[in-house]
Amino acid sequence: MVSRVTDDYRNMAAAGCAAVTEPAFWAGFDRSSAQGFHDYFCQITEHEPKRAAKYGLPHFCWLCINPKESEDVQLAEEVLALIPQFLDRPTVLGLGEIGLNKNSRNELKVLEMHIELAARHDLMILAHTPHLEDKFKGTRITLDALRNNRRIKPGRVIIDHVEEHTVAMVLDAGFWAGMTLYPGTKCTSSRAIDMIEQYGPERLWMNSACDWGDSVPLAIPYTALEMRKRGHSVAQIDRVIYQNPFDFLSQSPKFKLPSS
Ligand SMILES: [Zn+2]
Repeated sequence: MVSRVTDDYRNMAAAGCAAVTEPAFWAGFDRSSAQGFHDYFCQITEHEPKRAAKYGLPHFCWLCINPKESEDVQLAEEVLALIPQFLDRPTVLGLGEIGLNKNSRNELKVLEMHIELAARHDLMILAHTPHLEDKFKGTRITLDALRNNRRIKPGRVIIDHVEEHTVAMVLDAGFWAGMTLYPGTKCTSSRAIDMIEQYGPERLWMNSACDWGDSVPLAIPYTALEMRKRGHSVAQIDRVIYQNPFDFLSQSPKFKLPSS
């Protein structure tokens, strides 16, 4: 949301969105120092919740150095050292989006550092998975890295950007699976609904990419309309677009909605 305009907040609230959770993310350019991340963490823990609140949307976030900027291990170590001072802030849910981008050794090292930090502070995890030809291998490596740390509970981790060839391995291992709706790469509404119909609603939900490029903040309400057209009941739609994310996120004591 840091790259979106306030109209997006208004439109999401008008469409019935109950909350926003924003992962720490690549800003469209590489930051040159840990100080840049410090300011960014202040932005998503202080400024952005206030901006969203003006439009009636509770705003929560996840912190990390994202996979696209984690090739530089020394920078990653400096950024990870900054994170604990932000963990007590009232809207921080956990670490994310951590993971792999090109499945490199350095990225894996930084992923393992994040997993260790999450284990030490008993934090929930939002994990990114790579795109296109790197996705299958990257998802497998990510699941292995999470399972290698015995203090991580799969039920408190969501593996994001699953597609047809990765969703089963994520669900079978006990993790939550996120389908990211995006006009270009990742997943379209109809593919997401196909996966819901094939795998059922257990531990499966959707999120919309909102970033500096082509992306659709209202992708979830649009997909709800599409589900309605395809004959899903209101209760079935509510389960995947509201109840599932609510149940997962409520594992953090900080995740409270005004109506809950
Ligand atoms: Zn991602």
